[in-house]
Amino acid sequence: MFFAIFLYLWQGILTESTKKYKLHNMIEICDKLLSCDDKVAGNIMNIVNNASEKIRNGQRLDFVEALALYQSDDLLKLASLAQIVKERKSGHNVYYNVNRHINLTNICVSGCPLCAFGCTAEHEKAYVMELEDVIRIVRRTALDTPDISEIHMVSALHPDKPFSYYEDIVAAVKEFLPNVHLKAFTPVEIVHFAKISGQNIRTVLERLSAAGLDSLPGGGAEILDDSVRKIICPNKATTAEWIQVISTAHALGLPTNATMLYGHIETVEQRIRHLITLRDIQDQTGGFQAFVAFPFHPANTGFTGLQRVTSWEDLKMIAISRLVLDNFDHIKAFWMMLTLPIAQLSLAFGADDLDGTVVEEKIIHAAGATTKTGITKAEIISLVAETGYHAVERDTFYRPLERASGE
Ligand code: SF4
Repeated sequence: MFFAIFLYLWQGILTESTKKYKLHNMIEICDKLLSCDDKVAGNIMNIVNNASEKIRNGQRLDFVEALALYQSDDLLKLASLAQIVKERKSGHNVYYNVNRHINLTNICVSGCPLCAFGCTAEHEKAYVMELEDVIRIVRRTALDTPDISEIHMVSALHPDKPFSYYEDIVAAVKEFLPNVHLKAFTPVEIVHFAKISGQNIRTVLERLSAAGLDSLPGGGAEILDDSVRKIICPNKATTAEWIQVISTAHALGLPTNATMLYGHIETVEQRIRHLITLRDIQDQTGGFQAFVAFPFHPANTGFTGLQRVTSWEDLKMIAISRLVLDNFDHIKAFWMMLTLPIAQLSLAFGADDLDGTVVEEKIIHAAGATTKTGITKAEIISLVAETGYHAVERDTFYRPLERASGE
């Protein structure tokens, strides 16, 4: 069934650039294979075959195996392997939630070249929400979206707002929506709060938790390699700082997601190492709930000369993530970044979560995303039903809230 869906959708979604990329890739692979001696080509095939066998037996992939699978470029093989793992983890369920994003400000001290969202206070797009603005949004959300289960709040690093501003906002959100989960602040923001408040990471997290913070979204990981971070985001949290915040949050009982931003200056090897770093952390803490890979959108960033990676690459990343992250229960396909057709197709490549209704989003759209800024529950349910899987509305901890018919 998925194979048929895949072929049907694939015909429709392949862009000209994707076709050129694929053709170029095929030629390159043929060239490589022709210039390799049979022994080397045979070894690569052996690695891929052994890796496939390990996946079927529920064994862990190492770096070389993950890289060989990625470079084998066999999308259908990756899909069928990733689907085995996905169905082992979550059966025929595909999760979504009813959530709302809030981005408090876009005024940022960091000035990351990768970013299209952050700006200076003087910029014509600059905005900052005061406590009353957030309360107004939260009140309206409570009226308009009674079945909301999660508020997702991430923002830029404002130069002047004190730490108490964030504590007050957390407390206000929880006061007006006491039964709604508050997932807020990337590790990058937590490091910023530590700097502006003169407190350590643990204290910052403890104080936010006391104010009502329930979990962290895990953004800002980009690629966990400082040689890459120095170029794409030189002023924000380092690899070690990102890991420190995540590990401390997990130790305090605050779960997080894990993320990756791919398709800019990083190598495939750095992507695989990033996944293995996350897997190592998960072995130690068990605090990650889901992994989300974001394709880089270059528009309006310092990397406008780059092309957005192809849908082919997006699906490979979803599948490889599912295969490497054997200790993660969920792989999320963030429809807003991927587009709805690719997010739907990614359910055949190991993803088991489509994120949520979102309602309003500013960060990704600042970088040129052309997707909608929100969708309805009915649209998500219908999207999942078309794949033959079951749409399950979940809370932030993946507990089913309601079983929708996906048949
Ligand atoms: S990526 Fe985050 S920290 Fe960097 S400029 Fe954008 S909003 Fe600021």
